[in-house]
Amino acid sequence: MEKSTHERALKLVMNKLGCSEEMSKLLDSSQREVIVEIPLKRDNGDIKVFKGYRVQHSDALGPFKGGLRFHPDVDLEHFVSLASVMTWKTSLVNIPFGGAKGGIDCDPNELSTHELETLTKRYVEKVGMLLGPNIDIPAPDMGTGEQEMAWILQAYAKNHGHHPGVVTGKNKQLGGVSGRREATGKGVAYFTRLACSRENIDLERARVIIQGFGNVGQSAAINLSKMGANIVGISDRKGAVYNEKGLDVKTIAEDLSVSKKISLEDLDIDGEYITNKELLEAPCDILIPAAIEGGINSKNAAKVQAKLVVEGANLPVTKDGEDILLDKKVKLIPDLLANAGGVTVSFFEWSQNAQRYPWKDEKVER
Ligand code: GLU
Repeated sequence: MEKSTHERALKLVMNKLGCSEEMSKLLDSSQREVIVEIPLKRDNGDIKVFKGYRVQHSDALGPFKGGLRFHPDVDLEHFVSLASVMTWKTSLVNIPFGGAKGGIDCDPNELSTHELETLTKRYVEKVGMLLGPNIDIPAPDMGTGEQEMAWILQAYAKNHGHHPGVVTGKNKQLGGVSGRREATGKGVAYFTRLACSRENIDLERARVIIQGFGNVGQSAAINLSKMGANIVGISDRKGAVYNEKGLDVKTIAEDLSVSKKISLEDLDIDGEYITNKELLEAPCDILIPAAIEGGINSKNAAKVQAKLVVEGANLPVTKDGEDILLDKKVKLIPDLLANAGGVTVSFFEWSQNAQRYPWKDEKVER
């Protein structure tokens, strides 16, 4: 994988602060990196062994905080970078959390609900001693959502009693807050609007491409289209759709919500079906990578046509990719800021759990 932009940013900041080499090393390394084996008996009786991870980067400013990712391609290196992103993100938006990240190397689309539940609970059996409402608080990330958080809560309660604040991103009945699911994408939309007004880009005439139509991508698309933007391209892991006249993203999201297993290619969308690679290079004013890491890199950055790139995903642009974009005078809103809406609302949820007192929805929204 190409180097991430964070390594450079961190070096710059450390130099500016006059950090010693040892201090820089300390800030750059995780406090704890854990790998566990999780054997799962599949529904057909076969045994499959998965790897589970939890990387705790820093708790200097509060309990470790960060999502759980279920994805077949994850490894330790992956989580080490993502955990440190959480430390800088929570610190940037000034919420009293540190940074962590974890997950399992599985493809949730290939597992039954029963298998997923067992796997998630086994994960808690293995790393539960590292978690806690004042120790380390997981949340949804790629491949996980309210259901996985509920399983974690239940598995954790077995040994520690009922502590709703041990995870965020729960459903409302379990102590979650309305709007948490949409928060990351909504934040992405707000920052895009702010960037447009600073850069004199007319959002109502802007053509927007969103790579990744999961939780973040969908909410960003729906909120930006409410703000008047024209969403011309979207994609998921199987492919992309482009229509210069604009896509009806709300209806597409509704159609997809019928089943987790459906993808864009299964729908009859009014537009041209293209590849993910082609989408990143297609005509647009704003590009929002809201999927995997390193999607914009040395190979394709020169072909990006957008004037503004908003990092909906974590680490979606590599260091070499960023150099090329900046050379082309493309404005970039970094992930630490652009997608911080999610963990910010996680903080509101966690605060309510600690107070044992739910806030009114308007308060969260405000
Ligand atoms: N997974 C999200 C992120 O990368 C949210 C983390 C959280 O709410 O703890 O920011």
